[in-house]
Formats: sequence, C-alpha cells, structure tokens
Amino acid sequence: MTEIQGVASADGAEPKMPPGVLLEGPQVDAKFLDSYIAFGIMVSGSIAALVWTFTQGIGWVEVSVFLGTFVLSTIGIGFMHRYFVHRSFRCGPVMRTLLAAMATMAVQGSVLKWVSNHRRHHLHSDKPGDVHSPYYDGAGNRYLSFAKGMSHAQGGWVWDRETTDAAYYAKDILADPIAMFFTRTRWYWYALSAVIIPGVIGYGFGGVHAMIGCVLFAGLLRSYLMTMATSLVNSVCHSDGRYGYRRFETNDGTTNELVTTFLTFGEGLHNNHHRFPRDAYLSHAWYEIDINGLIILGLGKLGLVHDIFLSPVSAAGAVSKTPVEPAAEDLDVSGVR
Ligand SMILES: [Zn+2]
Ligand SMILES: [Zn+2]
Repeated sequence: MTEIQGVASADGAEPKMPPGVLLEGPQVDAKFLDSYIAFGIMVSGSIAALVWTFTQGIGWVEVSVFLGTFVLSTIGIGFMHRYFVHRSFRCGPVMRTLLAAMATMAVQGSVLKWVSNHRRHHLHSDKPGDVHSPYYDGAGNRYLSFAKGMSHAQGGWVWDRETTDAAYYAKDILADPIAMFFTRTRWYWYALSAVIIPGVIGYGFGGVHAMIGCVLFAGLLRSYLMTMATSLVNSVCHSDGRYGYRRFETNDGTTNELVTTFLTFGEGLHNNHHRFPRDAYLSHAWYEIDINGLIILGLGKLGLVHDIFLSPVSAAGAVSKTPVEPAAEDLDVSGVR
C-alpha cells in the first residue's frame, strides 16, 4: 500500500466519518435485525448440517445440489458486483430481473444494501469510512493487530454499530423498480434459495431423508460457506501483498489472490478490479481465470447484455506497474449512469 492517511487516531479521539455513514437511527437497528435473523438461521443451520452429515450421511443428491447452488450463487454475486454496483454492462428489464433474482438468492443481503456497502468500500478503500477493511473498523478506528483486522474484514464488520446510507450511495437502485422489488421481497428469495429449492429437489430425487439433507447441507451450509468465500475478497484480497500479488500500484491494500479467484469465479482478481473498477472482465494474464467475466462476455455474444465496459488497458491486455490514477468515470459511485 503506498499510503494510508487516516483521520482516525489511536489515542481515543473521536474519528471523523465521511458522509454516507449512519451511526444511529432506525436504519442501524434494521441492519442488526437483518444480520441477526440471517446469520442466526445460517449458522444454526450449518451446525445442524454438520451433525446431520456425520450422523445420517449425505449422498450424491445433496452434493450435486450443493455444487449447483454454490455455482449459481457465485455467478449471482458476480452480477450483483459488476452490474448493480459498477454498471460494467447494460441490459433490458427481463435480464435485469433475472440478474436481481440470482444476486438476491446468494443470501448476502439485498441489492440495495450490497450496492451501498460496496460503493462505500471503493470510495474509502482501506481508509476510515471503508465498510470492511482489515485496517479500520466501520467507525473509522484503526486496527493495530493484523489478525483482528482480518477477522473484521472476513465477517466481523456485519456487527459494527453503523450502516451505509443508501440514499447517499445508491440513488439509482432506489429509483429502479426491479432492484427495489427484490430488495423488499428479499426474505422470500433467501427462503427459495436456502430452503425451498434444495428441499424440493432433494424430495424429488431421494424422499424425506434427502430433503432434510439438502435443506441443511445444500441450502443453509452452502449459503454460509459461499458468503465466507466471497468475504475472502474483503480480507485476503486486501492484505497488502501478504496473500496474493499486486499487479498495479493502487492507493490501498488490494491484491490478486488465485485461490480466492477460483472460489469466487474471478472476484479475487481484486487489485486489477480496484485499478479498473468498471471493467467487466478482470483478467490481465492467462492464469487469471475470470469465470464471471467470461460469462458476461458470453452473454454479450448472445446479445443478452450490451455496452460491456472494458478499459482500454485491459482491452489491450497490457500489464502496467506504473501508478495511474483511475479515471473519474471509473470511480463514480453516485450511481447515476
Ligand atoms: Zn475491495
Ligand atoms: Zn467493486
């Protein structure tokens, strides 16, 4: 990381937060309610899944549904990130409805919440105000221990007493009836993804035993493990070179890390992504395999999405170690595009 300029101090002085962060009020309470319910169900379901797996056993039905839904959720988060947050491409309302459904069914919060948090993350990447940095907590206090910072980035940030103001970061989502429909009805989509669809497939292929196994193992445990895999992008891929490598000199701790890249279908190419946030395709080398980017390019070839954004340097396949400021267009988080 080239520099971290903090407005926070370790001597207990009140940190100055940038705008767009709510430290109290009904939106903070609502965030806690969502987190308690979602993680309460996912964590207790995951424990039950492990008990069930080791006492009752699981078979090919449970494993197949686990893998299928893990893949679909991972692609869904790819769309959440590259379409709803960064507008890397455009598409019509039918496609947008499908993308919003897949994104919500990853069970990582509503489109509105995910987009708001992630735009705030880019604007303050590894600085006070970042929602899930290994270096600062959500209130702007600096972490002095690497381990504490990493666990905050990996999941502890969900329990910070603050939340991101969607009215500041996601005006476009608030104005999009499709994204807001899925935001309001998120719990139905979580239930479909984590309980109903795995349960129905399990029952169809193996009766009541496979139904229970599928709900626990391929629904609830899968949702939790998939969320943890995505969260590696926040921790491992912001480790300032401790894990992975830095292709570009950016003003944060981002790295490209290939295990995370494999598990997240390309999202682990995070140093490339912070350098060119709007790019639809994140790979800059043959070994940087960006499945989500290839899917977007494939959808473009089929004519299902259009105006796919590729920055000139990534389109040319160039590799640069020279520090370059991202274009204003790349960093536009106002959401008005
Ligand atoms: Zn990041
Ligand atoms: Zn991003």
